[in-house]
Amino acid sequence: MTARAERPGERLPARVGLCAACRHARRVQTDKGALFVRCALSTHDPVYARYPRLPVVSCLGYSVADDADAERSGTEPD
Ligand code: SF4
Repeated sequence: MTARAERPGERLPARVGLCAACRHARRVQTDKGALFVRCALSTHDPVYARYPRLPVVSCLGYSVADDADAERSGTEPD
């Protein structure tokens, strides 16, 4: 089985779409290098997929991450 680990502090590439700059995105990478985005909103709101289909081009939950969020979750601020 391939392990998945959250990688705080590592930035998401722009190719993942809106999640790359969203405060709710969490970078998850398998030990084989596959990249996923876990949406933290999915924890409390079933409207949001735990692992959204990428790239995300439209999302009502999108909220721009600030520098502190980016450090914590691996997203890029504007
Ligand atoms: S709220 Fe939307 S843009 Fe933000 S991480 Fe979740 S799916 Fe991505």
